[in-house]
Order: sequence, then structure tokens, then C-alpha cells
Amino acid sequence: MEITEKAPAKINLGLDVISKRTDGYHELDMIMASVDLSDRITVRELPDSSDIKLQSNSSFVPLNKKNHVYKAAALIKKRFHIETGVAIYIDKKIPVAAGLAGGSSDAAATLRALNQLWQLGLSLAELAKLGEEIGSDVPYCVYGQTARVTGRGEHVKPITNTKKPWVILVKPAFGVSTPDIFRHVDLATITHPDIDTLEAAVVNADVDKVLQNLGNSLEDVTLDKHPLISKIKAHLMARGADAVLMSGSGPTVFALCHQEKKAHRICDSIKGFCNEVYLVRML
Ligand code: ATP
Repeated sequence: MEITEKAPAKINLGLDVISKRTDGYHELDMIMASVDLSDRITVRELPDSSDIKLQSNSSFVPLNKKNHVYKAAALIKKRFHIETGVAIYIDKKIPVAAGLAGGSSDAAATLRALNQLWQLGLSLAELAKLGEEIGSDVPYCVYGQTARVTGRGEHVKPITNTKKPWVILVKPAFGVSTPDIFRHVDLATITHPDIDTLEAAVVNADVDKVLQNLGNSLEDVTLDKHPLISKIKAHLMARGADAVLMSGSGPTVFALCHQEKKAHRICDSIKGFCNEVYLVRML
């Protein structure tokens, strides 16, 4: 039997860094949403082996124990005493180290797929709990729908989101290390988006209020190191985007646009400026 699960990219409509915890992680308050730029994870049982074998169309991801997909499979095998092996194919579309949680979403899709393959009957909440052991964004990615996410990512509260705009993703030709950006966070100077107001605006489908309250505490930290991100933001705003923000720790910038024609125009206009550009829908 073979099972395929979609692994959508995420963006942060809001990301507030609240404090540094004693365990070294930062306490966060976020509104996360998923977009239909997706990897695909296909799992197939290997009856004559107990190994986890990875293959991918991408040369940018490790095909060994360092892959988040491997970690997810190893965790499930160990926790549920599964002896049989599994072959996993990672069809990669999400850019790597982009602030789009590609690796975390792949891990989450692996958990969902193996839950079906091995008929474990785990709920999404149980899979999210397992996901905490793999990475901070994995619990959100298990749900893969708009949510308020707190702690270091372990508390996920799905929220209703009915007004789903077009999203233009612009990925500059460099990656960013998330731990490196968090190391440079100065809690005394970062900005703090109002996540309560943003959540209420999403739930009430108040588009203007959502656009006014988008914000990311990490944006200035990454911008300081990579001024190109400011230029991309300015370009997108000048072409008429409804709002523009960096996702996660960057470097991907996303523009929201509620008019389809305009979204296509903005997307075409940025292509000469940056060659990794995607026009997608919010899920
Ligand atoms: P986040 O926003 O959660 O920090 P990101 O989008 O910035 O994530 P990823 O694409 O998840 O970053 O990759 C981060 C690192 O994880 C890369 O250095 C990559 O080599 C490693 N990695 C391990 N497994 C995967 C995977 N399945 N897909 C992508 N990257 C992976």
C-alpha cells in the first residue's frame, strides 16, 4: 500500500516574540496560515526491511537522519514498536530554509501518512504532540489550517478564516538560518504586533483590520542583515499589494492581494527582480 499526503507551506500573518524561556527557546504568539504551495510525501511499506529509506527530487535536502521526515518516521516506529521498514519519497516544491516551514510540513505530512499506513488511529492532537519532539513548527503543520499558535509552537488553536486572499511569495536567492535570527533578537528593541486584534480580525473576516495588523517581530532582525528584503517589500507595495510582510525568520516575503487580476500583475512585475516567485491561494 502507498499513501500520499500534501505538505503545504506556511506563512506567519502575525509573529510576536514575547520572551526568552529558561529552556533557551523563545515564547511566541503567532497567527499562522497555510498556502497551496505544497510538497508531497509518499510512504510505502518495505516488508523485507526495517529501514527508513528516503528519496527526493531535490538536491537541497539531506537524505539521511538529519531530514525532518526521517525524524518523524523514526519517532513513530520507535514509539509504536513498528518493525517493518518504510520507503518515503519527498516531492519538494517548497523552497528550503525560506521561512515557509517546508521541513516541518514534510515531517507533519509523514506523521499523518504513517498514521494511516500503520493504522495507528491517532488523532491530530496526538500527532501534533509527537510533532513537538521534531520541531517547533511541526504541531501547527499537523493541522495545516489557520491557527493561533503559542508557546514555542506547541499550543495550536485552529481559527476560522473565511476571507482567503491570493498570496505572492517571493524568495530571494539566499537562505536564512532560523536559530541565527533568534540569536540576534533584542527583546528591548523589537516591535510587537497586536496578535489579539489580528486574531479577532481574521475570525470576523474584517479584511482591512487583518491587513492593518499584520506584523512580524523578526522582520527587522532579518532586514538588518539582508537589505534586499526591504527592496522586495517596497517593490510589491508600489505595484499595489494590499499588504506585504516577511514570513517567519525569512527571507521569503509574501504579498496579500484580494483581486486576482492584480495579483497576477504584481507577480509578473516582480519576476524580473527575483526569480523564485509563486502565486498561490491561502488554504
Ligand atoms: P522554519 O520557518 O520552520 O524555520 P524554513 O522554511 O526556514 O523553516 P526548512 O525549509 O524547513 O526551513 O529547512 C531548514 C533546514 O532543515 C535546512 O537546512 C534543511 O537542510 C533541513 N531539512 C531537513 N529536512 C528537510 C526537509 N524535509 N525539507 C526541507 N529542509 C529540511
